Amino acid sequence: MQAMLLTRPAPIQSRPLQATQLPDPVPGPGEIALEVAACGVCRTDLQLVEGDLEARRLPIVPGHQIVGRVSAVGPDTPGWAVGDRAGVGWPAGSCGRCDFCRSGRENLCQQARFTGWDRDGGFAEKVAARADAALRLPERFPDLAAAPLLCGGVIGYRALRVSGIRPGERLGLYGFGASALLAIQIALHWGCQVFVATRSPSEQRRAREMGAVWAGGYDDPPPVPLDAAVTFAPVGEVVIAALRALDRGGVVAVNAIHLDRIPEFPYRLLWWERQVRSVANSTRRDAEEFLTLAARIPVHTVADPYPLAEANEALARLRGGEVSGAAVLTVSGMGSVGA
Ligand SMILES: [Zn+2]
Ligand SMILES: [Zn+2]
Repeated sequence: MQAMLLTRPAPIQSRPLQATQLPDPVPGPGEIALEVAACGVCRTDLQLVEGDLEARRLPIVPGHQIVGRVSAVGPDTPGWAVGDRAGVGWPAGSCGRCDFCRSGRENLCQQARFTGWDRDGGFAEKVAARADAALRLPERFPDLAAAPLLCGGVIGYRALRVSGIRPGERLGLYGFGASALLAIQIALHWGCQVFVATRSPSEQRRAREMGAVWAGGYDDPPPVPLDAAVTFAPVGEVVIAALRALDRGGVVAVNAIHLDRIPEFPYRLLWWERQVRSVANSTRRDAEEFLTLAARIPVHTVADPYPLAEANEALARLRGGEVSGAAVLTVSGMGSVGA
């Protein structure tokens, strides 16, 4: 099979992913193999490819928003049949035995493994995955539309939960990329008033068009104090800007696997029981709840498609802020990649 392989992290301009011929993955016990149809491109992939997020295994095939059809089922793997459509996101499996796993917080499991970080992901024609990490996808979403739901959507949903936002409250979204585009639709469905901060005037305009009551820059204070905020921009200063906008008792949920640093800030910004919380990965419950809700609303995803062979270009455009919506690699029928 063809895969876009990372051997050595490097700046995206140097095209670190190489089109490579790899053996087809063989599903082990409890695993399925998928013929990949589409795989979303996430900022985490960019951080891994460039080395901001330290690689756990090299070489590795990145990609963790995978939509495909089951092409093989491993031994002792009930529940899946060849031809079934399945999705695989960032969580690739956890131990199932530790206190975190047994209390529905498998996202915190010490043994948790991740797709495209610990095991090969979906920037390839085929991928194997643990069956207990695979998801049934709502029929409503075609492959291209379903892919961005699997990380950006699920993690954005978890971030909303971590922020503690409740229906009708005032929510800030800091950064307005693929994940925030989905989170705003959930928050509006919950009847929240949404305030969007982003540097880009065109994203501010888009936020207002989607129903935000206010949109401005990171340093513009929203007109009213916020009950909760989620930061999506991978910049520590933005966490402080969000904290500054909070009402007493409010929470900033930081949706980032990697931030260089959060600058020093005066304690009075945190005083009155404000909180800053990180958002780490997601649980199976997050994914199932989000996919059900996304189909019911239904959320609208805007996919910006690229052929698999152009994974480097897709990541470069993500880095440059040139992707409108969510970049997705389309995999079926890529015959033209030179090995
Ligand atoms: Zn565990
Ligand atoms: Zn991701």
